[in-house]
Order: sequence, then C-alpha cells, then structure tokens
Amino acid sequence: MSSSFSAPKGTYDILPPDSATVLAVREAIAAPLRRAGYGYIETPVFEDVNLFSRGVGESTDIVTKEMYTLITKGGDQLALRPEATASVLRAALQANLHRVGNLPVKLWYSGSQYRYERPQAGRYRQFWQVGAEAIGAEDPALDAELIILAVDAYRSLGLSNFRVLLNSLGDKQCRPVYRAALQDFLRGLELDPETLRRAEINPLRVLDDKRPDVQKQLVGAPMLVDFLCEECKAYHEHVRELLTASGIAFEDDPKLVRGLDYYTRTTFEFVHDGLGSQSAVGGGGRYDGLSEMIGGPALPSVGWALGIDRTLLALQAEGVELPTPNASDVFAVPLGEQARRVLFAQVTELRRNGLSADIAYGGKGLKAAMKAADRSGARYALVAGERDLAEGLVQLKDLSTGDQTPVALDVLVATLKEKLQ
Ligand code: AMP
Repeated sequence: MSSSFSAPKGTYDILPPDSATVLAVREAIAAPLRRAGYGYIETPVFEDVNLFSRGVGESTDIVTKEMYTLITKGGDQLALRPEATASVLRAALQANLHRVGNLPVKLWYSGSQYRYERPQAGRYRQFWQVGAEAIGAEDPALDAELIILAVDAYRSLGLSNFRVLLNSLGDKQCRPVYRAALQDFLRGLELDPETLRRAEINPLRVLDDKRPDVQKQLVGAPMLVDFLCEECKAYHEHVRELLTASGIAFEDDPKLVRGLDYYTRTTFEFVHDGLGSQSAVGGGGRYDGLSEMIGGPALPSVGWALGIDRTLLALQAEGVELPTPNASDVFAVPLGEQARRVLFAQVTELRRNGLSADIAYGGKGLKAAMKAADRSGARYALVAGERDLAEGLVQLKDLSTGDQTPVALDVLVATLKEKLQ
C-alpha cells in the first residue's frame, strides 16, 4: 500500500457529491427496465469458479487472466463475479423461475464486477454495471426491446454522443462453418504464438484484437455476415427492422464479436465517442447456448450490461450535469442547551414530514454553526436561543437572501412545508 488510506489498485471510492450522480444514473437505467416488466435480482458477489469458466468461456481473457479466484477455508474454489449474466441465469435455474412463470423471465440487476485488468481511465478492477436479462424466449422483438431500453436510458440521461453497433454471430448451424473458414484464413497469417493459440481455441476473438498490425493482416478475412444461415439472416433482419421502426439509429459492425464466449445471433455494443480507448459504455447480446453450457435446459436468452463508471465519464465528456437533490432543506442552529433539545425535536419532526433537515452537532457556537448551515446548501436556517424559546419562537433565516422572520414553534413544520413546496 502506498499510504495507509489508499484504496486497492484499480479501485476507487464513490463519494458525495459525485455519489448522488451514481445513484441517479442507476435509477435512470432502471426506470425503463421496470416499465418493461423486468424484476430486480441480486446474486452473491462470488460464485463457484466453474460457473464462470464454463459459462463465460475457458478461452476468454476474463476467465484465463482476469478472474479473482480464492479457495475458502472449507476448500471451495470461488471467484469474484467478473460479470453477472452467468450468475443471474444460475439463480433463475436454481429457483426454477423458468418453470413457474411465463417465459421470458425478465430480470435486471445492479452491482459491482471484478476483473484483474490493467487499470487506466475508464478501466478498473472493480466497476459497476446495471444489467438486464430476458431468459427463455427466442424472439427478435426481445432483442430489439433491450436495445431500445438501453438507448432510451442513455437519452433520458441527456447523452447524445453515443452509437449502437450491431452484428449477428450466427447459431450452431452456421457459426461452425464460418469458424472453420476463419481459422483457415488465420493460419495463413504471421501472428505471434499467443494469437495463433487463440485462433485455434476461439478464432472469432482474433477479430476483436485492437493491435494495428493484427488489424492490418485481418483485411480480407472472411466475415460472418456472408456465412449466416437463412434463419439467422431472417432473425437479424427482423431485429434491424424493429429498431429502425422505433427510431433507433444503429451501425452494422461485422467485426463486433465481444469478449465472451456465450453469445449467439444478435450482439451489440454501445460506444461513446468522448471516451478515448475505453469507449464501450455497454454491450450485450443473445446467448442461446449458455443455459446448457452451465448444465441447464435449452433456454434461449438475451441481455445486456451497461457500465456505470463509463456512463459517468460519458456524462462528463458531454458536460451533462444531472439534477441532484439538495443536501438539506433546513439546517438548525441551536444556541444553548435547551435550544439544542427543542431544535433536535423539530428537526426529527421535519424529517418525519418528508423535509430534509440537519442540525449543527458537536456543541458549535453561533459562528461555526452558521458556517455549517451555509456549507450544507440548505435553503433555510432555523436559529433559536433561550429568549426565542421563552416566546415559543424560532428565527427562520432564508440563506439565499439573508432575510430573517420569527415563526411560532407550533406552526413551524406547516410553514416550512408550504415555503418549500
Ligand atoms: P462486458 O461485461 O465486458 O460486456 O462489459 C459491459 C460494460 O461494462 C462495458 O461496456 C463497460 O462499460 C463496462 N466495463 C467492462 N469492464 C470494465 C472495467 N474493467 N472497468 C470499467 N467498466 C467496465
């Protein structure tokens, strides 16, 4: 540790006032999901390591290089979740949600994920996502619904400088044919041993390689769009039509493969153009084979995860400031012991009536307490000393104008409620 108060490398604390923006972003993403019938789910931050190696994929960086694994005192091999889709599906299967209700089972979550990555701006070892999964239905309208909900969430935050990238990864019929063709092509290139190894295990991921020398060699590589079977082509066309009809602009990106093994058919990414190299603010797709990969029944599903950290950076990049609630409406400044008791009771009463109120603690004198009132951002200060209380009054000071008026204690709550409406 560099100093005794440093957060671990690649992590950071979310503090007021920025934390209010974080809550507002989560809420803005959650609101359209709730309106579309998604129910909230929480799962453990750690799971059996096999869930991720089977589910996310043994050939992905996320599993081979970036997973935080641990062995418990009881000998269980666990991993901090690097993403949530596998956990959400595991939980749905465990609770038999796919048997009880109508399909699809629609779920949304909000939580931290852990990846041992090289930290940089926009890339952390602990980061936050809000995600949505629609489990157990194969319907292009569901894929379109999720993309629309994400775009609507970004728009409701006031973001405009983002793009939707769209691709289809095919299915178990057509993907293997493409995979073999791509492998043939990759074997003829001059690639380093690790990339060649990747070409054998998961050749599609090589398309995702960001290095310019690799990208240069990939010119002329076979593209999945040219290999899609009729069903996949029709499915993809349907998704595109629904998006267009809903006013969603998207770009076809035939090289979009994304970092996880489980995607089939529709894949998409949301990129923000103000973020430099870590430009993906969210992404997702269809994962029809994942349930079977982790030992469940066939349950075609689709989902996405939006990164909260990068959404905040995107807001900064566009200069969008979200309206966040005032810390307090009222700040009480008691002068003397008796006033402290009376104002403490008034503050409690104000809070119970739905106003936000705070009081100077720690026996501060008038000057320090007034300073605290100013710093709190409150609209009003409540000042009272022995003489006011003897008359059944408090002084109500408007902190923006400095005007001060006496108010009777028994009508204080009603008066403030009216003024603050
Ligand atoms: P993924 O789970 O890799 O599909 O990522 C979905 C979204 O999570 C990305 O678009 C990012 O916004 C966010 N994300 C992924 N990895 C990180 C990271 N290391 N740090 C911050 N955000 C991340």
